[in-house]
Amino acid sequence: MKIAVFSTKPYDKQYLTEANAKRNHEFVFYEPHLNEQTCRLTEGFQAVCVFVNDELTEKVLQCLAHHGCRLAALRCAGFNNVDLHAAKKLGMTVTRVPAYSPASISEFTVGLMLTLSRQIHRACNRTREGNFALDGLLGFDLCGKTAGIFGTGKIGAGTAKILHGFGCSVLASDLYENAELKSLGIRYASPDDLFRQSDIITLHCPLLPETQHLINAQTIAVMKPGVMIVNTSRGELLDTDAAIAGLKSGKIGALAIDVYEEESEVFFEDFSSRVIQDDTLARILTFPNAVITGHQAFFTKEAMSAIARQTLDNISAFEEGRIPSGIIDWENIKPR
Ligand code: NAD
Repeated sequence: MKIAVFSTKPYDKQYLTEANAKRNHEFVFYEPHLNEQTCRLTEGFQAVCVFVNDELTEKVLQCLAHHGCRLAALRCAGFNNVDLHAAKKLGMTVTRVPAYSPASISEFTVGLMLTLSRQIHRACNRTREGNFALDGLLGFDLCGKTAGIFGTGKIGAGTAKILHGFGCSVLASDLYENAELKSLGIRYASPDDLFRQSDIITLHCPLLPETQHLINAQTIAVMKPGVMIVNTSRGELLDTDAAIAGLKSGKIGALAIDVYEEESEVFFEDFSSRVIQDDTLARILTFPNAVITGHQAFFTKEAMSAIARQTLDNISAFEEGRIPSGIIDWENIKPR
């Protein structure tokens, strides 16, 4: 199958090429994102392979369908960047990689918590300057704290288990309860109770209309003073302006984000010699108690291999007329 790969980085090319060694798909790798400006590049392709910041809007999908492209193979778990209703209307198949290495994101999430709770990011900067003083680096134990896990699917459940092992009291909130977590003593609570009672709140639900700006001025207001918030899920779950206000007032004691509402223009790119035009991002980067990473939580060797393998499995299954295991189930799409 001839596939146009968008948002390609050298590591995408490497892992997809390796996974394709025993298959005969033909990849053409494009660096730009797929959007209304670039969708003309899809002429002559039967499929596109896309990532988190490609924009599969109705217009883009119409352009793909017009070019005879019938498959959008996402090389990620989240699919909030695809207009699924439009894809369904156009008869396009959309696949994703629902679970490549949930541990990679759970481990990274806990890594961010430890970074903030022990100020490791600041300590590293200091010792590079020859400063080994401890003043200002006083941390706190995670053990004994209440950790609130919002969304206990694959990644949230993994994070809950690690924090349970650390000796945290773990609270969870989800539309469905996970029996295994309950058997460990993890308690389910309403979102409001979770926000009110947690010392640390970590987000692991998908971005949906009902979860957009889940963390906003109102929800922050009910949280404990000095709460730590971690978002490794999707940027729009957190109202960044409200988070900045919370950091300025001290209501939020620590913030870690691996995802950002307006990340598509900046993340995955090197801006070290350029001026960042996004004032909100520039502001949030200045807080000593905020850690920002560039959508890195998934980025392990294990996850990259699994993503490439499952993406190619999806593409091959589609080509051979089988149902790809990563197909997005139209039955689960709510009517608009
Ligand atoms: P999952 O589908 O296994 O779990 C999501 C959970 O959220 C489910 O249990 C679901 O019931 C729950 N949920 C859905 N709507 C909810 C609501 N309104 N309130 C409470 N809970 C709700 O997904 P996962 O594999 O655990 O991934 C979670 C998210 O992590 C993905 O949606 C994706 O956006 C993000 N992610 C980020 C990275 C990264 O590199 N930063 C990598 C992979 C995934």
